[in-house]
Amino acid sequence: MKAKRLYIIFTLFFILFVIGGKMEYKIQQPAVISDCNYTLSEALAGKVIPRDIKKDLRLVDVYYFSFDKKLHKGQLVIHKDLVNDIEWIFDMLKEKKFPIKSVIPVVKYHWSDDESMKANNTSAFNYRLVANTNRFSNHSTGRAIDINPWQNPQIIDGKASPEGSVYNPKVKGTISKHSMVVKLFKDKGWKWGGDWKTRTDYQHFEKLK
Ligand SMILES: [Zn+2]
Repeated sequence: MKAKRLYIIFTLFFILFVIGGKMEYKIQQPAVISDCNYTLSEALAGKVIPRDIKKDLRLVDVYYFSFDKKLHKGQLVIHKDLVNDIEWIFDMLKEKKFPIKSVIPVVKYHWSDDESMKANNTSAFNYRLVANTNRFSNHSTGRAIDINPWQNPQIIDGKASPEGSVYNPKVKGTISKHSMVVKLFKDKGWKWGGDWKTRTDYQHFEKLK
């Protein structure tokens, strides 16, 4: 009799254990993959930035489908005047499932535009010069953004940057004259670097004062 009771108790515990295990297994993976989670001061760390520029910078969370077709969360450092535009544009891009590889502040790439571009990373603020010039880029005030640099290189004298990238409007994530991305930015008064005759810059959008 005692053995039978022990058997029943054991069986009950066994069932609970199995069901419990299965339930735990069923707990869903997070719906959003977080690509970064900086505070503003972390995102600006390690760079000397003039105070009058720094005071206008904001850190914005953005959501996008990456090339893995999963929803990701990233962050952009951008001028405060452009926060609403960026939130609206990214909402629209997400709705249309335009793929964006990642959106991570360039602090992760040691403030190197080359490293960030090679990683096909989308970014806005970077206190830096225009490549091969001594002019400050409009990224220096957080008034410009580069999207999917690998699909959307900058072309100077026939040479693509990032090195090794190829511009082909048929490839997913590429921005071309008639693409919805260009329309969204232009609707909000931004200029597209793809329209420039020299230093054609397919990844680049900017909105100055
Ligand atoms: Zn740019």
